[in-house]
Amino acid sequence: MQLISQFYPLLSQPKQIVITMHQKPDGDAMGSTLGLYHFLHNRGHQVTVISPTNWADFLEWLPGIESVINFEGYKEKCLGILDKADILFCLDFNIFHRTKHLAPFLASAKAIKVLIDHHEQPDEPNFDYGISDTGKSSTCEMVYDFIMEAGGREELTQEMATCLYTGTMTDTGSFRFPSTKASVHRMVAELKETGFDHSQVHNHIYDNFLESRLRFIGFALLNRMEVLYEYNTAIMYIHQADLQKYHIKTGDTEGLVNYLLTIKGIRFGAIVIDRTEERKWSFRSKGKFDVNQFARNHFEGGGHANASGGRSSDSVEKTVEHFKQVIQEYKNQLQ
Ligand code: 5GP
Ligand code: MN
Repeated sequence: MQLISQFYPLLSQPKQIVITMHQKPDGDAMGSTLGLYHFLHNRGHQVTVISPTNWADFLEWLPGIESVINFEGYKEKCLGILDKADILFCLDFNIFHRTKHLAPFLASAKAIKVLIDHHEQPDEPNFDYGISDTGKSSTCEMVYDFIMEAGGREELTQEMATCLYTGTMTDTGSFRFPSTKASVHRMVAELKETGFDHSQVHNHIYDNFLESRLRFIGFALLNRMEVLYEYNTAIMYIHQADLQKYHIKTGDTEGLVNYLLTIKGIRFGAIVIDRTEERKWSFRSKGKFDVNQFARNHFEGGGHANASGGRSSDSVEKTVEHFKQVIQEYKNQLQ
């Protein structure tokens, strides 16, 4: 993978560009792809954003989201566009399998592949150019840097600012995680100069759910949480029937894992949700406990040191049992 600085000259002529992200895109994945979309589109490129799967309703208001194509619903159309692309941007993931069924088509695409990402252990040989920086708060911050380095300071718009603020906000837990360096606040100040409404962004993302989701959280906290004080760990497990009872949709479970870390002394929070085809884990930690490594070691996953995900083909009961088994190895690290 060559340095991204060597890539900029390739944008001097109008290009056919595809931007994609990880499956079930979150605020950072969707915010960064759309922020980049607006920038490249305004510079005269032909740009298409392809999502490997559907996304949460709370992202539905983002400027430009109406142009995003869901690969699961429009496979042939997406493959046609991908086939014609000169450049393929891969944002907020660093290994193709994070795009689920889109992965083999990205791998075989003829386009020049550009990585912009902040997760651990990138699969660098599969990208032509790129930047991978685990010190960055979010991919949105990296897209902002990309725009600045491409000489785009004067081209920032409210649409771009809204998109980039959204993902930075969601990936930093509203600017509270240690990844929120001074550079993040400087960027936000610069974005704010465009005049975009940051309060609206918070409302759209955090205050826009149905009553049933709040009832579901109450149910889960009361009936599906266990605190393993010996390991300073809290876990939660959600069954299919729970999801159905409360009409839980994509995105409704986002943030649930963070409740676990609000218990005094808890350093490690883990939640597993039965997603029919697999059991999906989310891991969060405070301090030194490395959940990226934990997810890689035991649950076929990865991510960041303090936020990661994984999976299992076992039943909810079995995978929770497995979790309780393997956590014993980390007793010292969790003190
Ligand atoms: P979440 O728990 O919010 O789904 O994911 C937390 C972080 O871990 C995100 O940055 C996400 O991209 C990453 N992540 C989630 N699941 C996986 C996985 O199965 N593999 C890898 N490599 N990263 C994951
Ligand atoms: Mn991210």
